[in-house]
Amino acid sequence: MVAQMSDSLRALDRERVWRPYTSVEDHLARDILIVASAEGPWLIDPDGKRYFDGSGSWWCNNLGHGHPRLRQALTEQAERLMHCSFGDLTHEPAVLLADELVEVTPAALQRVFYSDDGSTSVEVAAKMAFQYWQQNGRPERTKFLALPGGYHGDTLGAMSLGAVDAFTSTFSPLYFDAERPDEPVEGDWQAVFDQLEEMLRAQADHIAAVVIEPVVQGAAGMRMYPPECLRQLREVTREVDTFLICDEVFTGYGRTGPMWAVEHAQVEPDFLCTAKGLSGGVLPFAATLTTKRVYEGFVGGKERAFMHGHTFYGNPLGASVAREVLRIYRDENILSKAEPKAALLARRLAELDAIDGVRNARSLGMIGALEVGRAGYFGKTGWRIYERALELGAHLRPLGNTVYVIPPLNVRETDLEQLLSILERALIDVLQSGHGD
Ligand code: PMP
Repeated sequence: MVAQMSDSLRALDRERVWRPYTSVEDHLARDILIVASAEGPWLIDPDGKRYFDGSGSWWCNNLGHGHPRLRQALTEQAERLMHCSFGDLTHEPAVLLADELVEVTPAALQRVFYSDDGSTSVEVAAKMAFQYWQQNGRPERTKFLALPGGYHGDTLGAMSLGAVDAFTSTFSPLYFDAERPDEPVEGDWQAVFDQLEEMLRAQADHIAAVVIEPVVQGAAGMRMYPPECLRQLREVTREVDTFLICDEVFTGYGRTGPMWAVEHAQVEPDFLCTAKGLSGGVLPFAATLTTKRVYEGFVGGKERAFMHGHTFYGNPLGASVAREVLRIYRDENILSKAEPKAALLARRLAELDAIDGVRNARSLGMIGALEVGRAGYFGKTGWRIYERALELGAHLRPLGNTVYVIPPLNVRETDLEQLLSILERALIDVLQSGHGD
């Protein structure tokens, strides 16, 4: 009976759904996993089989699935107010959350603009930076600088700032003006930041902002660079007086250890973008935080207003859940309790590095990643490991041949051990039959 229902759901899925990041070939060929429910780090299929959600439901599931306090916050808010516009109306959850976000982010950040996902939080920052210079005496500052391999989302503005070709190259004729240094050679990030610094100094009068993912580039393949480089970049952006936008959509909420990845470098950005973990991975909800200076650049009448907003900005359900997330971080000491688990992850990743065919196993906070195969993003070995891990009970969606784990911060050690054992078994099983493409 269950099998029959699953088959008909899959058939309807093939008939009606257009799947993100999925070729039609794959959509038609794969018997897709149906998730009927979820609990803590586990996704549960209609037969009751459990799979560790090793990719953190696209990197947002920091507190596990179904946290009872998030369920309760959502239900209570749903009984009062589920949605209203947020231009000429306001409500308690969004206002109090803004104040609480200002408390937990670097001191310079004083204003909160809500949006609904990571991409829009970056679009907002870029548009604010652009408009700031337009109406504050530097209209020639129209260009952006970014990092090679940056990823900031799939909307057009966010794509213009990104450089993960597999995601975006088709659309390059539509991009606005953004430039970036060359790719790092043999992991030499200092050279990348030196080149960025040169570009910044040479074109300072034309640069609206520099946009980066602090310390970890997620979509580029969990690439990590030294915090010192970020500190250097902050100094130069200050020297030439242009803005630094830090995209903490993935790295925020303790994913790399501290609450924000900028804390590794003790850097205060002009804009901080947050989503994913902001709502505990439960609802589409995002925020862009910025400084008093930026806000003051918009003071005035309608002609100076920031003309940007979408239907669900400031949504009360999202805001209430986001407030509860912050309380859970505080009450359950999420960050400090994650430390021993991050250490366990680091130890186990170092062991996995010894497997024949595994390269560059690394971790930072609760991110673990390694390389397999030879063919990079379009390689198939990562996907073979995915298939094997699924049989063994873990969902490990790879970035091509970068295989990674993004467990919840509050995962139990025994569950984390289980995930890492599945990863190890899958690596050994797949790689012993050759290292592949
Ligand atoms: N910025 C970064 C650093 C991201 O990793 C992502 C998504 N993976 C985004 C922005 C886009 O977020 P969303 O998918 O919620 O639009």
